Amino acid sequence: MDHRSPAVHLRHSYAKLPERFYARLDPAGAPDPLLLAWNRPLAEQLGLGGLEEDPDRIARWFGGNERLPGAEGPIALAYAGHQFGNFVPRLGDGRALLLGELKNREDGRYYDIQLKGSGQTPFSRNGDGRAALGPVIREYVVSEAMHRMGIPTTRALAAIRSGEWVRRETALPGGVLTRVAASHIRIGTFEYFAARRDREALKHLLDYAIQRHYPRAAEADVPALAFYRAVVEGQAMLVAQWMAIGFIHGVMNTDNMAISGETIDYGPCAFMDEFDFDKVFSSIDRNGRYAFAAQAGIAQWNLARLADALLPVVDDRQAFETILGGFEKIFRDHYFGEMTRKVGLESMEAGDEDLVMEWLGYLQRNQLDYTLSFRRLAECLARDDANTFGDFEERWKQRLARQSLAGEQIRTRMNAINPLFIPRNHQLERAIDAANQGDMTVFRELLLVLQRPYEEQPRFATYAEPPTEQERVLQTFCGT
Ligand code: AMP
Ligand code: MG
Repeated sequence: MDHRSPAVHLRHSYAKLPERFYARLDPAGAPDPLLLAWNRPLAEQLGLGGLEEDPDRIARWFGGNERLPGAEGPIALAYAGHQFGNFVPRLGDGRALLLGELKNREDGRYYDIQLKGSGQTPFSRNGDGRAALGPVIREYVVSEAMHRMGIPTTRALAAIRSGEWVRRETALPGGVLTRVAASHIRIGTFEYFAARRDREALKHLLDYAIQRHYPRAAEADVPALAFYRAVVEGQAMLVAQWMAIGFIHGVMNTDNMAISGETIDYGPCAFMDEFDFDKVFSSIDRNGRYAFAAQAGIAQWNLARLADALLPVVDDRQAFETILGGFEKIFRDHYFGEMTRKVGLESMEAGDEDLVMEWLGYLQRNQLDYTLSFRRLAECLARDDANTFGDFEERWKQRLARQSLAGEQIRTRMNAINPLFIPRNHQLERAIDAANQGDMTVFRELLLVLQRPYEEQPRFATYAEPPTEQERVLQTFCGT
């Protein structure tokens, strides 16, 4: 085996921003790093192909023990944020470090390579800077599943067991996740500099964010407003996609909302089993601020905080309000666009939104599984005799009859966009419990199944099933 280090070309564009944007420091290093998972296709896209031949080297690099060849020092990013509505002027990466950026060969863009759980930083406050293995596994599985379902998201490159215990309610095995993101700029990054009345930094950050994510905004009359419009659109579309698959983020604080439009910071997130507009899983969301159906309104609230933070750059509140006023329509168009496709409609007519709402009301009243109900609805097209979904089914079939598509075609199209396999809470817990005992088989199986969310996989049929009463997960935790 060739033990020379392969060439890795990390870019360090964020580290070229002014020093008050971050703190520079090395990770603590894992006492006994062990590679648990390596995302080979993603590694290849990032120019890290072939590394799998030396898992120990991967573990040392991404456990924070050794710097990647040629890399400059890692940085912890500064940011602020509104947590559950309350402003905290200094949060920052308290358990994460940005190693640098790698070019993805597939789209030619640069992506942040970040270690999460790599030790304390100047932003750690009372935290230990570590991550328990459970949340590492959770983020790995859920982010990769989201990616497979076509939802913008950060990704997981590696999971390392650190070889040390972290203290939570009990002592748990520690882990380090390597996260890949379009960037780690959050709404809270803008809020950090706005709160410090650092207009110069705000302008730097804005220029950087425009260049990196929305280069066309640079050519607009007022780039800051064009940037804001792009972020508003991205968030509206993202939340519409979340809600169409029954996803609840759980901690939509402004420090957990990326301006790239990617889903970021998978903490107490969850997919619903039975449908409920008011569903909350997160143990810390006591008032349901981040409940399932509250997510669009919260995204708007967060975007209003971004507008506040940008006012020192463009003192035109009215202009920001007008742009934010467009959120509702973008969200509704995307949400109902997705939902009508999910129930087999090719284009939207007047009355279709009501049909979708009737469907959701039916699911809620009957406490039906959100994910499986779309598959069962498609099955209704294979059988003319039975009626599974009552009055709704009749109205729905009448609507479908106005399309020039055969039932079988509609069924095929529905099954191609309605997942059969989602990362269900009880399966995630099983995977985490096993991993904590040193057994990675459930984790690997779950990852494998979720690679093909729309396909029947008879060998893994149990992964599609809702939890039994005993398996039911009532609450999810940040685990930090
Ligand atoms: P999050 O729960 O990821 O939204 O984190 C909120 C804030 O708490 C961020 O500033 C994190 O860096 C910080 N934080 C979370 N967990 C830890 C930890 N174990 N040690 C230090 N800081 C942490
Ligand atoms: Mg966070």
